[in-house]
Amino acid sequence: MRKQYAVIGLGRFGSSICKELYQLGHDVLAIDINKERVINIEKYATYAVNADGTDEDALKSLGIRNFEKVIVTIGANIQPSILCTLILKELGVKEVWVKAHDQKHVRILESIGADRIIQPEYEMGIRIAHQLDSSRVIEYVELSKDHSIVELEATKKNDNKSLKQLDIRAKYGCTILAIKRGEEVVVSPSPDEKISEGDLLVAIGHKVDLVRFQEKGM
Ligand code: ADP
Repeated sequence: MRKQYAVIGLGRFGSSICKELYQLGHDVLAIDINKERVINIEKYATYAVNADGTDEDALKSLGIRNFEKVIVTIGANIQPSILCTLILKELGVKEVWVKAHDQKHVRILESIGADRIIQPEYEMGIRIAHQLDSSRVIEYVELSKDHSIVELEATKKNDNKSLKQLDIRAKYGCTILAIKRGEEVVVSPSPDEKISEGDLLVAIGHKVDLVRFQEKGM
Protein backbone atom coordinates (compact mmCIF):
# COMPACT_ATOMS: atom_id res chain seq x y z
CA MET A 1 0.00 0.00 0.00
CA ARG A 2 1.29 3.43 -0.97
CA LYS A 3 1.92 5.63 2.05
CA GLN A 4 2.85 9.26 2.59
CA TYR A 5 6.09 10.02 4.39
CA ALA A 6 8.08 13.19 4.96
CA VAL A 7 11.79 13.38 5.68
CA ILE A 8 13.15 16.60 7.15
CA GLY A 9 16.93 16.98 6.92
CA LEU A 10 18.70 15.36 4.00
CA GLY A 11 22.14 14.44 5.28
CA ARG A 12 23.45 10.92 4.68
CA PHE A 13 20.94 9.37 7.06
CA GLY A 14 17.86 11.30 5.95
CA SER A 15 18.58 10.96 2.24
CA SER A 16 19.12 7.20 2.48
CA ILE A 17 15.75 6.85 4.25
CA CYS A 18 14.12 9.04 1.62
CA LYS A 19 15.57 7.07 -1.30
CA GLU A 20 14.64 3.72 0.19
CA LEU A 21 11.02 4.74 0.95
CA TYR A 22 10.66 6.16 -2.54
CA GLN A 23 12.05 2.96 -4.06
CA LEU A 24 9.53 1.00 -2.00
CA GLY A 25 6.87 2.89 -3.95
CA HIS A 26 5.76 5.43 -1.36
CA ASP A 27 5.13 9.16 -1.68
CA VAL A 28 7.99 10.97 -0.02
CA LEU A 29 8.21 14.66 0.73
CA ALA A 30 11.87 15.59 1.24
CA ILE A 31 12.71 18.85 3.00
CA ASP A 32 16.03 20.55 3.68
CA ILE A 33 17.15 24.06 4.47
CA ASN A 34 20.09 23.60 2.10
CA LYS A 35 19.19 24.10 -1.58
CA GLU A 36 21.91 21.82 -2.90
CA ARG A 37 20.75 18.92 -0.73
CA VAL A 38 17.23 19.41 -2.12
CA ILE A 39 18.46 19.39 -5.72
CA ASN A 40 20.45 16.20 -5.07
CA ILE A 41 17.39 14.34 -3.80
CA GLU A 42 14.92 15.45 -6.51
CA LYS A 43 15.25 12.23 -8.51
CA TYR A 44 14.59 10.12 -5.41
CA ALA A 45 11.57 11.84 -3.87
CA THR A 46 8.03 12.63 -4.90
CA TYR A 47 8.43 16.26 -3.82
CA ALA A 48 11.67 17.92 -2.81
CA VAL A 49 11.30 21.24 -1.08
CA ASN A 50 13.78 23.81 0.12
CA ALA A 51 12.36 24.88 3.49
CA ASP A 52 13.30 25.37 7.11
CA GLY A 53 11.98 22.57 9.31
CA THR A 54 11.50 25.05 12.13
CA ASP A 55 9.23 27.30 10.04
CA GLU A 56 5.73 26.44 11.20
CA ASP A 57 3.98 28.28 8.37
CA ALA A 58 6.11 26.55 5.76
CA LEU A 59 5.34 23.13 7.28
CA LYS A 60 1.63 23.95 7.44
CA SER A 61 1.51 25.05 3.82
CA LEU A 62 3.17 21.77 2.81
CA GLY A 63 0.25 19.97 4.48
CA ILE A 64 2.62 18.16 6.82
CA ARG A 65 -0.16 17.07 9.18
CA ASN A 66 -1.55 14.79 6.46
CA PHE A 67 1.58 12.65 6.36
CA GLU A 68 1.37 9.31 8.14
CA LYS A 69 4.88 9.49 9.46
CA VAL A 70 7.45 12.25 9.50
CA ILE A 71 11.09 11.59 10.26
CA VAL A 72 13.29 14.41 11.48
CA THR A 73 16.89 13.76 10.52
CA ILE A 74 18.38 17.17 11.16
CA GLY A 75 22.01 16.62 12.17
CA ALA A 76 24.11 17.46 15.16
CA ASN A 77 22.56 20.86 15.74
CA ILE A 78 19.94 19.77 18.24
CA GLN A 79 17.98 23.00 18.60
CA PRO A 80 16.26 22.95 15.17
CA SER A 81 15.61 19.24 15.55
CA ILE A 82 13.78 19.84 18.85
CA LEU A 83 11.83 22.81 17.53
CA CYS A 84 10.82 20.94 14.38
CA THR A 85 9.64 17.95 16.44
CA LEU A 86 7.64 20.19 18.75
CA ILE A 87 5.92 21.92 15.81
CA LEU A 88 5.09 18.59 14.15
CA LYS A 89 3.52 17.22 17.34
CA GLU A 90 1.59 20.47 17.90
CA LEU A 91 0.30 20.34 14.33
CA GLY A 92 -1.04 16.88 15.08
CA VAL A 93 1.31 14.65 13.09
CA LYS A 94 0.52 11.20 14.48
CA GLU A 95 3.91 9.63 14.21
CA VAL A 96 7.12 11.62 14.48
CA TRP A 97 10.44 9.76 14.43
CA VAL A 98 13.57 11.70 15.25
CA LYS A 99 17.27 11.07 14.94
CA ALA A 100 18.99 12.00 18.19
CA HIS A 101 22.53 13.20 18.56
CA ASP A 102 23.21 12.39 22.21
CA GLN A 103 21.52 11.44 25.51
CA LYS A 104 20.54 15.00 26.34
CA HIS A 105 18.81 15.23 22.98
CA VAL A 106 17.07 11.89 23.64
CA ARG A 107 15.71 13.14 26.97
CA ILE A 108 14.32 16.33 25.48
CA LEU A 109 12.76 14.48 22.55
CA GLU A 110 11.11 12.02 24.95
CA SER A 111 9.63 14.86 26.96
CA ILE A 112 8.12 16.60 23.93
CA GLY A 113 6.45 13.45 22.64
CA ALA A 114 8.67 12.13 19.84
CA ASP A 115 7.18 8.75 18.95
CA ARG A 116 10.44 7.03 18.20
CA ILE A 117 13.96 8.21 18.84
CA ILE A 118 16.75 6.79 16.74
CA GLN A 119 20.45 6.84 17.50
CA PRO A 120 21.93 5.29 14.38
CA GLU A 121 25.57 5.10 15.41
CA TYR A 122 24.73 3.77 18.87
CA GLU A 123 22.22 1.19 17.60
CA MET A 124 24.47 0.09 14.77
CA GLY A 125 27.40 -0.15 17.19
CA ILE A 126 25.49 -2.64 19.35
CA ARG A 127 24.54 -4.74 16.32
CA ILE A 128 28.07 -4.79 14.98
CA ALA A 129 29.49 -5.69 18.42
CA HIS A 130 27.24 -8.76 18.51
CA GLN A 131 28.26 -9.73 15.01
CA LEU A 132 31.94 -9.27 15.87
CA ASP A 133 31.60 -11.22 19.06
CA SER A 134 30.16 -14.26 17.39
CA SER A 135 30.88 -15.25 13.83
CA ARG A 136 27.60 -17.15 13.94
CA VAL A 137 25.47 -14.06 14.51
CA ILE A 138 24.35 -12.87 11.09
CA GLU A 139 21.85 -10.27 12.24
CA TYR A 140 20.97 -8.73 15.57
CA VAL A 141 17.94 -6.65 16.52
CA GLU A 142 17.55 -5.23 20.00
CA LEU A 143 13.93 -5.34 21.18
CA SER A 144 14.44 -4.00 24.68
CA LYS A 145 17.12 -3.76 27.33
CA ASP A 146 16.84 -7.50 27.92
CA HIS A 147 15.44 -9.06 24.78
CA SER A 148 16.58 -9.36 21.21
CA ILE A 149 16.21 -11.25 17.98
CA VAL A 150 19.26 -12.86 16.39
CA GLU A 151 19.85 -14.68 13.18
CA LEU A 152 22.23 -17.60 13.66
CA GLU A 153 23.76 -19.95 11.15
CA ALA A 154 23.06 -23.61 11.91
CA THR A 155 26.18 -25.74 12.34
CA LYS A 156 26.99 -29.42 11.84
CA LYS A 157 25.75 -30.02 15.36
CA ASN A 158 22.24 -29.00 14.31
CA ASP A 159 22.30 -30.71 10.93
CA ASN A 160 19.46 -33.09 10.11
CA LYS A 161 17.83 -32.61 13.51
CA SER A 162 14.25 -31.49 14.08
CA LEU A 163 13.41 -28.57 16.36
CA LYS A 164 11.83 -31.11 18.68
CA GLN A 165 15.07 -33.08 18.89
CA LEU A 166 17.09 -29.92 19.49
CA ASP A 167 14.64 -28.88 22.24
CA ILE A 168 15.81 -25.27 22.05
CA ARG A 169 13.00 -23.72 24.06
CA ALA A 170 13.33 -26.07 27.01
CA LYS A 171 17.12 -26.09 27.02
CA TYR A 172 17.85 -22.45 26.31
CA GLY A 173 14.57 -20.55 26.72
CA CYS A 174 14.72 -19.23 23.14
CA THR A 175 12.06 -19.52 20.47
CA ILE A 176 12.77 -20.05 16.79
CA LEU A 177 10.55 -17.61 14.88
CA ALA A 178 11.62 -18.60 11.40
CA ILE A 179 14.13 -20.59 9.41
CA LYS A 180 15.72 -19.08 6.33
CA ARG A 181 16.97 -21.55 3.76
CA GLY A 182 18.25 -19.81 0.65
CA GLU A 183 15.25 -17.97 -0.79
CA GLU A 184 12.78 -19.98 1.28
CA VAL A 185 11.55 -18.73 4.66
CA VAL A 186 9.70 -21.10 7.00
CA VAL A 187 7.72 -18.89 9.38
CA SER A 188 6.68 -20.38 12.76
CA PRO A 189 8.30 -23.72 11.95
CA SER A 190 6.63 -26.84 13.30
CA PRO A 191 8.51 -28.95 15.90
CA ASP A 192 9.11 -31.55 13.20
CA GLU A 193 10.88 -29.13 10.88
CA LYS A 194 14.38 -30.45 10.17
CA ILE A 195 17.36 -28.11 10.27
CA SER A 196 20.23 -28.34 7.82
CA GLU A 197 23.72 -26.99 8.31
CA GLY A 198 23.84 -23.45 6.90
CA ASP A 199 20.16 -22.68 7.59
CA LEU A 200 19.63 -19.34 9.28
CA LEU A 201 17.67 -19.63 12.51
CA VAL A 202 15.81 -16.50 13.57
CA ALA A 203 15.65 -16.76 17.37
CA ILE A 204 13.98 -14.52 19.93
CA GLY A 205 14.70 -14.52 23.65
CA HIS A 206 16.39 -12.99 26.64
CA LYS A 207 19.89 -11.82 25.72
CA VAL A 208 21.48 -14.13 28.29
CA ASP A 209 19.57 -17.13 26.91
CA LEU A 210 20.46 -16.25 23.34
CA VAL A 211 24.15 -16.14 24.21
CA ARG A 212 23.84 -19.52 25.93
CA PHE A 213 22.13 -20.91 22.85
CA GLN A 214 24.86 -19.50 20.56
CA GLU A 215 27.62 -20.92 22.71
CA LYS A 216 26.22 -24.28 23.69
CA GLY A 217 23.46 -25.07 21.23
CA MET A 218 25.07 -24.17 17.93
P1 ADP B 1 24.09 13.12 8.54
O1 ADP B 1 24.90 12.64 9.70
O2 ADP B 1 22.81 12.34 8.38
O3 ADP B 1 24.85 13.21 7.25
P2 ADP B 1 23.97 16.02 8.52
O4 ADP B 1 24.21 16.85 9.73
O5 ADP B 1 24.98 16.05 7.41
O6 ADP B 1 23.62 14.57 8.99
O7 ADP B 1 22.57 16.44 7.84
C1 ADP B 1 21.59 17.15 8.43
C2 ADP B 1 20.74 17.82 7.36
O8 ADP B 1 19.76 18.59 8.01
C3 ADP B 1 21.54 18.76 6.46
O9 ADP B 1 21.29 18.49 5.10
C4 ADP B 1 21.04 20.14 6.86
O10 ADP B 1 21.03 21.06 5.78
C5 ADP B 1 19.63 19.82 7.33
N1 ADP B 1 19.08 20.83 8.23
C6 ADP B 1 19.70 21.46 9.27
N2 ADP B 1 18.86 22.33 9.86
C7 ADP B 1 17.69 22.25 9.19
C8 ADP B 1 16.43 22.91 9.31
N3 ADP B 1 16.22 23.83 10.25
N4 ADP B 1 15.46 22.56 8.44
C9 ADP B 1 15.65 21.62 7.49
N5 ADP B 1 16.81 20.99 7.32
C10 ADP B 1 17.83 21.29 8.15
